Amino acid sequence: MRILLVEDDLSLGEGICAALRRGAFAVDWMQEGASGLAAIRDGEFDLAILDLGLPRVDGIEVIRQIRSLGHAIPILVLSARERPSDRTLGLDVGADDYLGKPFDTAELLARVRALIRRSAGRAQPNLEAGALRLDPATLTATWHGRALDLTRREFSLLRLLMEQRGRPMARDAIQRHLYGWNEDVASNAVDVHVHALRRKLEPGAIRTVRGIGYALGGSGDAAE
Ligand code: CA
Repeated sequence: MRILLVEDDLSLGEGICAALRRGAFAVDWMQEGASGLAAIRDGEFDLAILDLGLPRVDGIEVIRQIRSLGHAIPILVLSARERPSDRTLGLDVGADDYLGKPFDTAELLARVRALIRRSAGRAQPNLEAGALRLDPATLTATWHGRALDLTRREFSLLRLLMEQRGRPMARDAIQRHLYGWNEDVASNAVDVHVHALRRKLEPGAIRTVRGIGYALGGSGDAAE
C-alpha cells in the first residue's frame, strides 16, 4: 500500500512519513498543493493525506480538482484550521475523513487503515484468506494458526495480495505499491520477497501467474 502525503510543515511531514513507514506503508511526500495534485493524478497511490493550508494550490482546491477528474482515491485531510466550516467544506468537496492538528500518530494510522478498509469494501479489520490471517493494526500474521516472522516489506506484500482477493497482480504494479520514489529497488525485489514468503508459508501460498505476476494461492494450489 502506497500513500501520498501533501504537507508543507517539515517536521510534521517527517514525523508522519516515519509513522507510516512503521505501519508498513510506502510513502511519498510532496510539500505543495500543485505537485501533490500532479502526483495523485499520475501516481499509483492507495490513499492521500492532505494538509489544507498549502502553498500554491490550497488543499480544498486539490480535493476539488481530484474529484472533478473522477479519482476515487481515499483522502484524509489534516488541518490546523479549527473552524467547523473548513472541516465541512473539506468533506463536502470530497475528502473522506478529517483529523485536526495536533493529533496522535496512532490515531492517524488507525484512520488510514479504516479508510483503506472501506475503500476495499471490507467491514472486517483483519484480512483472511484460507489458512492465512493478517492483522493490519498489529502488523502480525498467522499461517494455520502459527505466528509468522515477517519483515515489514513481506508483510506489505502479503497485505497487498490479500486485498486482491486471489486476483493476480502484475509484478511492476506490486513494486509500485511497495516502494516510494526515492527508494533504491533491485529489479528482482518483488521476486525475492515472494521467494521468502513461499519459504515461510508454503510454496503454493503464492501462485505465479504466467505473463501477469503473482496471486495469493487458493488452498492446495501448487506453485508453478
Ligand atoms: Ca500547512
